[in-house]
Amino acid sequence: MAAGNGIVVVFDFDKTIIDVDSDNWVVDSLGLTEEFERLLPTMPWNTLMDTMMGELHARGRTLGDFAAALLAAPIDPRVPAAIRAAAALGCDLRVLSDANAFFIETVLEHHGLRGCFTEVNTNPSRVDAGGRLRIEPYHDFLRGAPHGCGVGTCPPNMCKGQVLDRILREAAAGGRKPRVIYLGDGRGDYCPALRLAREDFVMPRRGYPVWDLICEDPARVQAEVHPWADGAEMEATLLALVRRALVEDAAAAALLPLDCKLESSIPAAAQDGGMPIMPLGVKN
Ligand SMILES: [Mg+2]
Repeated sequence: MAAGNGIVVVFDFDKTIIDVDSDNWVVDSLGLTEEFERLLPTMPWNTLMDTMMGELHARGRTLGDFAAALLAAPIDPRVPAAIRAAAALGCDLRVLSDANAFFIETVLEHHGLRGCFTEVNTNPSRVDAGGRLRIEPYHDFLRGAPHGCGVGTCPPNMCKGQVLDRILREAAAGGRKPRVIYLGDGRGDYCPALRLAREDFVMPRRGYPVWDLICEDPARVQAEVHPWADGAEMEATLLALVRRALVEDAAAAALLPLDCKLESSIPAAAQDGGMPIMPLGVKN
């Protein structure tokens, strides 16, 4: 994997990388839809998925059954193509998902995509001594402190905005702040979208909950908004944004010495007036 072009691309998983929700897909594929819907009003989604794994284990279902279901989950062929192309261009790719590690790793490995991603940020999963898949919360709100996000659209087990902040702190530790392209569809993707800066990009799936939330009050999002509807549009939009960011960054790097000279020769009054020396990355 090439690396280090200064762009971090963050992908949601369900209905972004794959075209369905992996939790619903596994539950439906293994015949537990009714049970799932009956219990959904009584507990958080993440807790319910752990409960469903327990129920399936009690019925003799194995990890192999979950994997077989996951491998049949629909994925638009242009999405893996977009992921491979972005990785080949040197982007740092991350998954940020409210699914779980087993489901995501299984799908990424199957499609040969795992190596494209630096990191998968999601709810942890493990297999207990009895062979049952356990799904745990990313933020342990049951035993520890709640994540405390005030946006109001994050589930109790995961604030994607806080995870994004951590990813960006780590990515910026070696130098300048990376540019971010964030792709997602759900309510949980709204919080990270609000935390992006003016020079970043958010790619909400058109017609899905995060798109509706952004449209309710577009001024709350500082990043440029580039919606997409299907894999072909995702691929074209993502790669156009990556190429644009690379051109802009190269232009900015080329201008930098000139700007340094300009800055020292500009009268103080003009500098105080906020003269736009480098009008790159400005919102259209
Ligand atoms: Mg999603």
